[in-house]
Amino acid sequence: MKPIEATNFIEQIINDDIESGKISAVQTRFPPEPNGYLHIGHIKSMLVNFGTAKKYDGKCNLFFDDTNPSKEKTEFVDAIRKDIEWVGYHWAKEVYASDFFPVIYEYAEKLIMDGKAFVCDLSPEEISATRGTLTEAGKESPYRNRSVEENLQLFREMKEGKYPDGSKCLRAKIDMASPNMNMRDPVIYRILRCTHHRTGDAWCIYPMYDYAHPICDYLQGVTHSLCTLEFEDHRPLYDWVGIQLGFAPKPRQIEFARLAVTNTVMSKRYLKKLVEEGHMHGWDDPRMPTVTGLRNRGVPPEALLDFCTKIGIVKANSECQLAYLEACIRDNLNENAERAMAVLDPLKVTITNYTGEELLESAIHPLKPELGTRKVAFSSEVYIDRADFALVPPPKYQRLKPDGYVRLKGAYIIHCDEVITDENGNVTELKCSYVPESRSSNDTSGIKVKGTIQWVDGKTGVDVEIRKYAPLLKDAEYAGQDFTERMNLDSEKIFFGKAEPYLAESEENKAFQLMRIGYYKKCTENGKLVLSEIVSLKDNFNK
Ligand code: ATP
Ligand code: MG
Repeated sequence: MKPIEATNFIEQIINDDIESGKISAVQTRFPPEPNGYLHIGHIKSMLVNFGTAKKYDGKCNLFFDDTNPSKEKTEFVDAIRKDIEWVGYHWAKEVYASDFFPVIYEYAEKLIMDGKAFVCDLSPEEISATRGTLTEAGKESPYRNRSVEENLQLFREMKEGKYPDGSKCLRAKIDMASPNMNMRDPVIYRILRCTHHRTGDAWCIYPMYDYAHPICDYLQGVTHSLCTLEFEDHRPLYDWVGIQLGFAPKPRQIEFARLAVTNTVMSKRYLKKLVEEGHMHGWDDPRMPTVTGLRNRGVPPEALLDFCTKIGIVKANSECQLAYLEACIRDNLNENAERAMAVLDPLKVTITNYTGEELLESAIHPLKPELGTRKVAFSSEVYIDRADFALVPPPKYQRLKPDGYVRLKGAYIIHCDEVITDENGNVTELKCSYVPESRSSNDTSGIKVKGTIQWVDGKTGVDVEIRKYAPLLKDAEYAGQDFTERMNLDSEKIFFGKAEPYLAESEENKAFQLMRIGYYKKCTENGKLVLSEIVSLKDNFNK
């Protein structure tokens, strides 16, 4: 294995480890806890773990960190697997912390025998009350100096179920005066009667994350344990466990910045609240930053990886603009999405001098002529968007107005001859005439029009429900403002419009650029055509 051209600090470290002969192959792991759905932050973690291993021709395991039985479920395990596959990564092995429970237990006995761990009878409250503060040392537990024999016997009895939950725990014997709070005799095993999603009721004691994780990494042959910055303060404990247990070679923990994105929220706790309080349709609501939500929204996984790659892997936390994520999605779709037409708010236009029907041809993708054309029906009745007509137009108005011209995209120039209104003065229909020599493919009319608008044929157009989305959170008004005060309760808007039949006939979940509207995903719900927004057309990212 050879060093590669490093693009970030993690690759530099790995290169050094290769050059010094410390490692001969790269092994990483992607370590979700199966207590919820993955979100876009996890895609960054996937890029770091799977992506780095791939670059070195190494391996990455899918490691389920399931040491917290009260919150973990098989349902989440299955969802996580599906999400990773959708993103496009393949794991070498699927491993669970619970696979290692027996070994993790044996290692705890070894720590006890080496005088490095003790059974403590303090309650969780007492332990936290005696931990000290950042400026003050903690107080040693009165049980700290129990003999090895007594500790071993008590620990075995804990395992056998002799003591109630929370009445005892196993603690590492490190240093109550350490400036690092995580090193102040941390709890490494607790008593908890809770059915585990895989081991059932086989255990009534469970190891703590900080103790179990280095062991699981070592047993998987992990060379580089890549995690987010909040674990930096836990690294001394990670290393302590490896040193006490004589791990060689010892996995190396490296921390990187978490992904945070403006106008959205990623903490599982808050996302759960949104779902449970009914603000979202579910975990896969297209507005959710969950992987299942992004998939349901129609976002291409390549765009998400592109985004995570472009923001880079660094060591300082910062917040990314949602607009930048949207720009990456838009770039992808501009390249890949077919074009089609729909109108959000249909206004009927009768073309009084047109008889018959014809099929016009429109490019499937203007940048990819090799994809050919689609047929677009045209007749004496079309729908335009109400927003593209102004009864009293502002100066320089380029769309349709009384006695004005506009071009119907890919079809003809029309002239507005008459405006029909109801008794309240609302426009209900336009009577127009078309210019026969102005067909887009062969315009000899000599009429110059500034505006081109989308339209849908009245005879063949289909009813469509169009869903538009706004970000989940409004901008913060002041620093530290709570999410609950920033929620955009009006983040989904529904329109009942018209669409060309091509959209109804296309395959499910396909992405389209709806001319002058945005990028939308096509789907069918209860036999009805639905177009739901992936990303708007407007680029409001300030590059
Ligand atoms: P959350 O705090 O959102 O609930 P978590 O950290 O509890 O997430 P885990 O399932 O433990 O979620 O995370 C699996 C891996 O993904 C961990 O290595 C974690 O550091 C990483 N990860 C989680 N959130 C992010 C994020 N926003 N950016 C980058 N990596 C993340
Ligand atoms: Mg976690």
